[in-house]
Amino acid sequence: MFDFDNSYARLPERFYASVYPGPVKNPKVLKFNSDLAAELGVAVLSDRARLAGILSGNIMPVGAEPISMAYAGHQFGNFVPQLGDGRAILLGEIVDTKGTRRDIQLKGPGRTPFSRGGDGRAALGPVLREYIVSEAMHALGVPATRALAAVATGEEVYREEVEQGAILVRVAASHVRIGTFQFFAARGDDEGVKLLADYVIERHYPELSANENPYVGLLEAVAMRQADLIARWLGIGFIHGVMNTDNMSISGETIDFGPCAFLDEFDPLKVFSSIDRAGRYAYRNQPGIGQWNIARLAECLVPLLHREEATAVEIANGVLEKFAARFQSSWLTVFRNKIGLESASGGDGELIQGLLAAMHEGRADFTLTFRRLADAAEGNDEAFLRCFSDPSKAAEWLSMWRSRLGSEALGKGELGTVLRRNNPAIIPRNHRIEQAIASARSGDLIVFERLLDALKRPFEELPDFADYMTPPEPEERVLRTFCGT
Ligand code: AMP
Ligand code: MG
Ligand code: MG
Repeated sequence: MFDFDNSYARLPERFYASVYPGPVKNPKVLKFNSDLAAELGVAVLSDRARLAGILSGNIMPVGAEPISMAYAGHQFGNFVPQLGDGRAILLGEIVDTKGTRRDIQLKGPGRTPFSRGGDGRAALGPVLREYIVSEAMHALGVPATRALAAVATGEEVYREEVEQGAILVRVAASHVRIGTFQFFAARGDDEGVKLLADYVIERHYPELSANENPYVGLLEAVAMRQADLIARWLGIGFIHGVMNTDNMSISGETIDFGPCAFLDEFDPLKVFSSIDRAGRYAYRNQPGIGQWNIARLAECLVPLLHREEATAVEIANGVLEKFAARFQSSWLTVFRNKIGLESASGGDGELIQGLLAAMHEGRADFTLTFRRLADAAEGNDEAFLRCFSDPSKAAEWLSMWRSRLGSEALGKGELGTVLRRNNPAIIPRNHRIEQAIASARSGDLIVFERLLDALKRPFEELPDFADYMTPPEPEERVLRTFCGT
């Protein structure tokens, strides 16, 4: 089924643990992502039992070299020298139809040498949640790990309540994290850090290998990808929720969809995660945390950072400054696009902040407000103003926006189209995810399937999916999300 070529397993043994998944009782494929399978060039098996066997770890496909990766990480600011894949097994890597190497990983197949006190399992709810959100991110144009399949194990897992067990088959550009570098750095294993850096450069940043010091280039390149990624998160109202260094991918993909959530009404200090009591990973804190995480990566790379007269610390600080500047410009690009500006002008940041302030004060829904700007562009101000509890500030903002647009070349009709292209109508709202999970728990996958269908075309306002555009009613509102355990 997979044409494996496993480069990570060729690294020294201290990089991972070989582990065979224990059999699960009664695997059943709940969802298989045929579009992704086609992109991967994976042959789809018509034998459903065999497919379920492979995707649950019960059957080892030819060429698989199952391993759990070692990593460390800062969790909510506290360093843990050994985490590792406690409930994930990398089957191997394949090269997709575009020539990109991708990891095929089972998440939730049982205990591994890195499980510590955990059971190595995943529950149905979090598996479907990751499936929905990661696929939605992809359709929204934001780099993310993908979901190839969700499989029920037929076993029970014990959380606050007894839950149905499931496995997510996750596809990633790689599973190397900032925490992977920290694992070696914390052990004083400079050779391990260098081997990992060389591996990452070859796999993700081959253009750097010609640089005088490719490791400086690596730090900078990862910083730029993270800055761009976080700007995109902010542009869709996404709160990752657990931006620990072990959840920050070196390739720049969004990874780990545990307690993540999308904003309904705009609040820059919004936190959903039940374990983020101090608001460390609040919406607005994400760029600052991204920079903090890059500083942790820089610390790992110190032995490798040197260029002309500059010390490692000077180089690292330079990269952190570049991160801040790149985030600013990336954020401006994202939000300029969201309000239909094609050129850059000095006051644009203030104009955008003005809208966000009015949205916060007016308890406006993040996604819907931007979407309705397209209606305002076509003369229907009312559709936009209705999003605000008090429309007076929003009306003032519209006139400022119009005078700024006066200097833009875009025609009226075209502007609406551009705005609809840049502002999604449909995002995976928390209450919709909860509804899909609740009915899946009782054996009905129709709600889950329908939500996935809607999220495939997030920029279209299809009458069939109009219900997915509306914010939750007060009683539907999800206040807290929980870690994906
Ligand atoms: P996360 O908060 O999802 O980033 O996970 C942090 C660490 O806990 C990682 O090393 C995971 O592999 C591990 N972990 C999470 N859930 C479990 C589980 N049910 N069993 C074993 N390890 C787990
Ligand atoms: Mg994680
Ligand atoms: Mg997680």
